[in-house]
This record gives sequence, structure tokens and C-alpha cells, in this order.
Amino acid sequence: MNIAIDGPAGAGKSTIARKLAEELGYVYVDTGAMYRAMALFFLEQGIAASNEQEISAAASLIDLSIRYQDGEQQVLLNGENVNRKIRTEEVGNMASVTSVYPDVRRKLVALQQKLASDTDVIMDGRDIGTCVLPNAEVKIYLTASSATRAKRRYDELCAKGETCDLNEIRLDIEERDARDMNRETSPLKQAEDAVLVDSSDLTVEEVVETIRRICRKNHSI
Ligand code: C5P
Repeated sequence: MNIAIDGPAGAGKSTIARKLAEELGYVYVDTGAMYRAMALFFLEQGIAASNEQEISAAASLIDLSIRYQDGEQQVLLNGENVNRKIRTEEVGNMASVTSVYPDVRRKLVALQQKLASDTDVIMDGRDIGTCVLPNAEVKIYLTASSATRAKRRYDELCAKGETCDLNEIRLDIEERDARDMNRETSPLKQAEDAVLVDSSDLTVEEVVETIRRICRKNHSI
């Protein structure tokens, strides 16, 4: 059994997927973390995001693997656990720009499909229902307005004591959405058989309950 959750940044995919995975005993696969790990490598190598040829060559050399410890996904980049290093704005931006390249996507899609063939997964990302797991039993397209997503991000950063500008965050989110939705290779879009869930006016628990109901109704999960 596989559950695919796609949607734009800040819609709440990882929070929801993590909770559901724990409840159902599925493995949670965060595919964004893989694009971030690749991006970290490109940054560390000083490769320009615009240099597709060098990015493709570097992507073919990267040894990227996933390990689970106490239910938490760990991304190993050339043997090093990079979970902490990939959670920066710089890496997020580089991931957003370099995830448009087909050679980057090909490598990660193969890894994601392998993970899902070995076990029951809840996988979140941008192209899971449309490209990575087209036969997933349940597909959810989780979204929220850009204003709501920006406010969530703003509150998160404020809680960490960082100074930030709500309007700038919103513009950045809209720019990333546009890049994800308009790229040629597997753009972000709702799969034809995905159920749309808008989390703008819902609490985390309400979104989890909505998806739980969809799973039960469609597939007795
Ligand atoms: O979800 P997260 O923000 O961690 O993902 C980082 C970037 O990786 C996104 O901005 C998106 O462009 C890209 N991504 C993707 N396909 C996925 C997951 C993430 O293109 N399946």
C-alpha cells in the first residue's frame, strides 16, 4: 500500500504525512529532503545552479541513500548524515532551482520507487502521484493559499527567533510555486485521480482526519 501526498511548499505535507505514517505503521518518505541533499552537494562543490552540464555530471557521482533510525528518515550524502545541513534557506533555494533538471530527477525518482517497492510508504513531494508512484492506492493533493502558507512559515521563523518579512516570504513561496508548476520535467500538478484537500482553514488534526477518511473510504487502510 502506498499513499502519495503532493502539493506546494508550506501546505503541511510533512507534518501530516509524518503523523499518518506513525498511526498506520507506514514508512514516511520525505522526497524534498533528497532534492535538498543533492543541492547541498552542488553548493559544497561550488557549482552554479545555472550550469546544467556540471550539475548533471555531479548528480551522477553522488552517492545518496536513505536510512531509518527510530522511525526518522536520515539522508546520507556520500555516507554523511546531512539531515541538519539541508534545512537552510540557501539549500532550499538551490533545491528549488536544481530540481528542474531531468538528470537530477531521474536519479532521485529511481531511489524513491525502490523505497516504495520494498515497504508500505507515505511519500510526500511534488510529483509522487503523477510520476513516482502513479499506482499509489491513495493520492492526495494538499494545498493552501499562498497567504496562509507564508504566515505559517513566518510564525515558524519567528518562533526560532529569526527576523523576517511576511511579504518577502510570500513572494518567495509564489516564486517557488511557479518554478515547480512550470518546469518541463514532472511539474507540480494534481494527479487526475488525486483528492484535493485545502488546509487553509483547517487545523493539523482536521487535515489528518480528512485524509484518514479518504483512506478508509477508498481503500480500507
Ligand atoms: O519539500 P521541500 O521544500 O523540502 O523540497 C525542496 C525542493 O525540492 C522544492 O522546492 C521542490 O522544487 C523540489 N522537489 C521536487 N520534487 C519533489 C520534492 C521536492 O521538485 N518530489
